[in-house]
Amino acid sequence: MARIVQKFGGTSVADMDHIRNAALRTKAERDAGNEVVVVVSAMSGVTNRLVDYVNSIGSLHDASEYDTVVSSGEQISSGLMALTLQDMGVPARSWLSWQIPIETDATHGKARIRRIVADEIAKRLGEGEVVVVAGFQGVSPDNRITTLGRGGSDISAVALAAALEAERCDIYTDVDGVYTCDPRIIASARKLDKITYEEMLEMASLGSKVLQTRSVEMAMNHRVCLQVRSSFDESPGTLVVDEDEVVEKEVVSGVTYSRDEAKITLVKVPDRPGVAASIFGPLADANINVDMIVQNVSDDGASTDVTFTVVKDDLDRAKVVLEERRDELAYAELVPDPNVAKISVIGVGMRSHVGVAQQMFSTLAENGINIQVISTSEIKVSVLIEEKFTEQALCALHTAYDLDAA
Ligand code: ADP
Ligand code: ASP
Ligand code: MG
Repeated sequence: MARIVQKFGGTSVADMDHIRNAALRTKAERDAGNEVVVVVSAMSGVTNRLVDYVNSIGSLHDASEYDTVVSSGEQISSGLMALTLQDMGVPARSWLSWQIPIETDATHGKARIRRIVADEIAKRLGEGEVVVVAGFQGVSPDNRITTLGRGGSDISAVALAAALEAERCDIYTDVDGVYTCDPRIIASARKLDKITYEEMLEMASLGSKVLQTRSVEMAMNHRVCLQVRSSFDESPGTLVVDEDEVVEKEVVSGVTYSRDEAKITLVKVPDRPGVAASIFGPLADANINVDMIVQNVSDDGASTDVTFTVVKDDLDRAKVVLEERRDELAYAELVPDPNVAKISVIGVGMRSHVGVAQQMFSTLAENGINIQVISTSEIKVSVLIEEKFTEQALCALHTAYDLDAA
């Protein structure tokens, strides 16, 4: 007998037929004698609709009310899943975050889980009941509903797997595993049987939405055995594993893109010590993450252009923060540009191979694609390009690194 967490994403619970299909997978695991925790996302499209309702009121909204609205899709799907299981003769009940509870901090919209009190659900599992948890939600110290960030049901699933010491955490979705690139963009993308935690972490954080970034981080820290698989067929899926479990390490194992970032350039900032701190300090205080940064000394040598990226959703807030400090920062102009894409190549093999970045730059150059900003780490190279070149860049790089399926 094993304890298993099954997470079903939005497309896997899109309507009643899909919910029945998912419930059959749960029933099969339980019939095999396993204890099963099911984590559900909202039915596909629902969360986007809820976000749109809130945004129609204004982009600078009360984040705790945003969470009250946006978390509600998971309440519906958890109840429907529990009802469907009961209808199949499987004892099941739904659990909202505050009923467990899944305790988080108070950072509404992207709260972090602090603690899960798993005693009661563990007891119910022991009694043969299927525990159906509304993903994506938590409860703050002052008893408000929080959400864990978009795609956050993956985090709920991994956190529950860690808290309950589950043998496996199966992420059921609409693709049958992790591919070398988003298979919806690159038809020749290849499914990976295994991927290391570190590569998966980079792929997720650099735009591959198949797993939410923090869920991978948590799985890595708690050594949760994670598998991405299809809810529509029986193919084996992709295992996320430790590096020493991958025998043949590819130099590059994936190419990703993200259209979620926007670029800001501050033109002609006086070039003096402390300038970076005075720009990025207030942004950090406003809880705005800055990703790529580049600084160019301008023609006169006395000033500098500072270019950086923020999450697109934070662009308006970042502009407000910087415009409020215009006198102090003394820049000539603030130029926002949301039409950019970040393209990255990732692979643990990069540690021992040279020339990966060079190959990326020359491939983009051959395709006439200009690089605006570059950033690197031990196992990835990222570039910022004009958004309209996204597909062309991905295709060219996928081929250049020999990733196309045979
Ligand atoms: P769910 O609703 O089940 O959580 P998501 O939409 O969050 O599903 O994640 C699955 C999607 O991730 C796929 O439909 C696919 O388009 C996308 N995706 C992006 N990059 C990859 C990749 N490298 N491998 C597989 N899927 C990817
Ligand atoms: N429903 C939430 C979202 O769409 C959480 C999730 O699907 O994981 O972001
Ligand atoms: Mg997802």
